[in-house]
Amino acid sequence: MKTRVAVVTAHPDDAEIYAGGLIAAYSQMDIGVHIIIASNGDKGGALPAKTLSALRVDEAKAGAKKLRAEVHFLGLPDGGLDDCANLSSLIGSAFSHISPDLILAHHPQDYHADHRAVAEAARTAASFRAPVAWLDTMMGVATNPTHYIDTTAHQEIKRSAILCHATQDPQRFLERAQLLGKFRAAQCGHDGYAEAIEHDPTYPFCDIRDLLPPPPPVKPITDRSAQANANWKK
Ligand SMILES: [Zn+2]
Repeated sequence: MKTRVAVVTAHPDDAEIYAGGLIAAYSQMDIGVHIIIASNGDKGGALPAKTLSALRVDEAKAGAKKLRAEVHFLGLPDGGLDDCANLSSLIGSAFSHISPDLILAHHPQDYHADHRAVAEAARTAASFRAPVAWLDTMMGVATNPTHYIDTTAHQEIKRSAILCHATQDPQRFLERAQLLGKFRAAQCGHDGYAEAIEHDPTYPFCDIRDLLPPPPPVKPITDRSAQANANWKK
């Protein structure tokens, strides 16, 4: 059976911003990505709530199409996910439908309250269904990466997917995502782009490396060239 990954997010543009390269990388593997969007996004701008949420559904569908992922909407109130008693049961129902082999969700220490609510609800809903890993946060604050994904070849798709969210002034998120991508790659001694995730280990422990796209290529951290050796022997 085809491997499936669920990406659980709070708002219609989160998957593109926090995991656009990762999801695009999955599209080149035999892995199906299902984006679950908890809120309707109707507080993300000055437009009337109904108008804005309808626009944001269309933007999310367009972004998911660029990433070649399926998208599922839970339609809960934007800005109030921590007050939604049925958040984890709705996410659990989506998991029952998708049967994911790996669950990715916002980081539990993310800056946004809706994101933190999704993290806890996803962890509760995951139970023993599948291993859970957290997405990176805005500018990487509080994330302790356990795995990196080489997203260098997927930057253009990620860029175009983020820019689908025209109601959100997306250029500002694109610039931050690109900066973080360069930083995560530099942590691996790599000149391209990378995305990081933080595996949440629990019992039974699961090695998730086979469920992830490839990491940045390994480079030696010391210069072992013939010239360097010659200099050392002087
Ligand atoms: Zn968000």
